[in-house]
Amino acid sequence: MDSQQFRDAAKGAIDEIVTYYDNIADESVLPSVKPGYLRPLIPDSAPEEGESWEIIQSDIDRVIKPGLTHWQSPKFMAFFPCNSSFPAMLGDMYSGAFNAAAFNWICSPAITELETVVMDWVAKLIGLPEVFLSQGEGGGIIQGTASEVVVTALVAARERVIRRKLKAMPEGEEKLDAAADLRGKLVAMGSEHAHSSTQKAAIIAGTRFRTVSAPAENNYSVTAASLRKTIEETKAKGLIPFYFTATLGSTATCAVDDLAGIAELAREYPDIWIHVDAAYAGSALVCPEYQHLCPPLAAFDSFNFNLHKWLLVNFDCSAFFIKRRRDLIDTYSITPSYLRNEFTESGLVTDYRDWQIPLGRRFRSLKVWFVLRSYGAQGLRAFIRNHIQLGEFFAARIKTRPDLFRITTDASFALVTFQVTPAPPRGGKADQPDPRHEAYTSDFTPSGEAQYTEDCNQATKRVYEKINSRGQFYISSSVVCGTYIIR
Ligand code: PLP
Repeated sequence: MDSQQFRDAAKGAIDEIVTYYDNIADESVLPSVKPGYLRPLIPDSAPEEGESWEIIQSDIDRVIKPGLTHWQSPKFMAFFPCNSSFPAMLGDMYSGAFNAAAFNWICSPAITELETVVMDWVAKLIGLPEVFLSQGEGGGIIQGTASEVVVTALVAARERVIRRKLKAMPEGEEKLDAAADLRGKLVAMGSEHAHSSTQKAAIIAGTRFRTVSAPAENNYSVTAASLRKTIEETKAKGLIPFYFTATLGSTATCAVDDLAGIAELAREYPDIWIHVDAAYAGSALVCPEYQHLCPPLAAFDSFNFNLHKWLLVNFDCSAFFIKRRRDLIDTYSITPSYLRNEFTESGLVTDYRDWQIPLGRRFRSLKVWFVLRSYGAQGLRAFIRNHIQLGEFFAARIKTRPDLFRITTDASFALVTFQVTPAPPRGGKADQPDPRHEAYTSDFTPSGEAQYTEDCNQATKRVYEKINSRGQFYISSSVVCGTYIIR
């Protein structure tokens, strides 16, 4: 493809993408294809000779679109959102054009420096404490996903606690043995409702993992008392708790752990690295009415949220903020001769390879920069507030029909979770059962609270499965403390 062909192809592709977005609301969210649908549609091996763009592009309609789940559809309500916007797409386009593996500052100074500045913008926008800004000892870096952030933080926490505990030992074989012994005793912790990425990170890091209880009666939040109990039980067994993921907006219900209480507790356990995972809900911090959650964050070691979930930046873009960048650099900085250069030696530049697991990195700050400038803080706040209001509106609607539904968690960062009640309806408009509801649930007879809960679980599951099987909308479910919910 030469430059003129690229110009024509790109214009055509953009026309097609705009049309896709203009019509997306009319599509069923879920595709109707069966597993393995794609292989018969394309040849068994790559073509020997190049094909024209016209032929390649026509396969978007023939091969790809039938198998797409339309995440950008307004009828997509599953998981958490994965927002997109045209400014972010333009950012990705330029990033593709300037294509680089910008691991060191000199590999493309603009890529490093824009990321540093834009992450400071983001930190200020969401009201993060100043300790996370790059002008001090902290700073922000963009990673692909929250899971990558958690593993990066957890491994750095593991190495930090080992460094601290073995500080007095001289380097050598004995120290390596002592470090290996310590590693076997380390315990990472996360709420029973924390995202599975913490458990996965513990597996990757080769440490143990323990859940911290966060019961329904406490709104599924971890309290300082509950965390203390787990820490002390762990220590009583001769093990070393070294890391905890606190959650600001849990996956199932958007629960927020008791950040203020945990911040107090953190002073008593300075060797425990506390990371705050705000993957989804963190975007709401652009609104001042949520920033009361921010001051306790100063007590913690790191924080992340996904701009690709709820802040109009296309996937992938997880902002990772660290209070002492030295904690990352002390773990991840390994500089063989082929990576050495005068700028690194000068100590005046940031080499982001020293803050992360991979070496190479993309130009992701460009799309963040474009989005922040295109929407402005006010535009982003309006976008988030609209979703919050929709969540509240939906919860209010659900509450008008106690004969059909019961709320399990009220609107929290636009997420509502609820159950479908089994027939015959309890309370509310009991004398006016909804015929659709009856059709879904008529084979249930409630008897006693436990049976009623189980019947609610079954009714909820059936409605959930029925909605998704139709494909028009896509929603997700979860089980929290034995309760089956639609979210
Ligand atoms: N943390 C929380 C609270 C989440 O809800 C999710 C995903 O929904 C994740 C982490 C994992 O996100 P990612 O796909 O960015 O790894």
